[in-house]
Amino acid sequence: MRKIFLGPPGSGKGTAASRVAPRFNVPHICTGDLFRENIKQETPIGMEAKGYMERGELVPDEIVIGMLANRIKQEDCEDGFILDGFPRTIPQAEKLSEISDIDVAINMDVSDEIVIERLSSRVVCKECGEIFNLRGLIPKQEGKCDKCEGDLIRRPDDEPEVIQHRLDTYKEQTSPLIEFYKDKGILKDVTCPNINQTAEETAQSVWDAIDEFLAEAK
Ligand code: AMP
Repeated sequence: MRKIFLGPPGSGKGTAASRVAPRFNVPHICTGDLFRENIKQETPIGMEAKGYMERGELVPDEIVIGMLANRIKQEDCEDGFILDGFPRTIPQAEKLSEISDIDVAINMDVSDEIVIERLSSRVVCKECGEIFNLRGLIPKQEGKCDKCEGDLIRRPDDEPEVIQHRLDTYKEQTSPLIEFYKDKGILKDVTCPNINQTAEETAQSVWDAIDEFLAEAK
């Protein structure tokens, strides 16, 4: 059960991954969250990553690969994991192939218009990282997380000028991974038809794609 989620920022991969992971009883590992946690704790990794993240750029491969390799060595990853936001470059994908076998790569295929619209209305919990969207996935209590009642904030990299830069970075450095995994025969596309698709509908499409993949693999 080693799955990865590819897709531009705001494609819904984080929300879908967090809903799919419990089904397989494996951890959902989001490298962006690992960095945010490191920044909060003011660790050396956090200090190095902060500037890149604020500018909407990728953190250098050697930092992210080391951090991820340590994370997937932990006991809770024995039966697998779901990676969200890793790999994001070809060298990261090559390194991942050396240390682990991936069974499916889910590619969240979403237009720029939807991404921009979603990221501009996204808020996240300052405490637990749960994602909400003021257009679709609305928190029950204004400004508070449904899960832990932490304060909801806008991520600094969800400001409009940073969003465009993150999209450009995705196209240049991450989108070549679609061909990389297609060539390996493990790519499954999940298309998001419009901005009104709910998180539940997105997660359902992902489940269907995984089921289809598992049936084909038999
Ligand atoms: P995310 O939460 O996935 O949108 O990631 C937020 C930011 O963390 C990205 O814009 C990058 O600066 C950094 N980041 C997360 N994952 C990676 C990765 N695999 N490689 C390089 N940078 C990453």
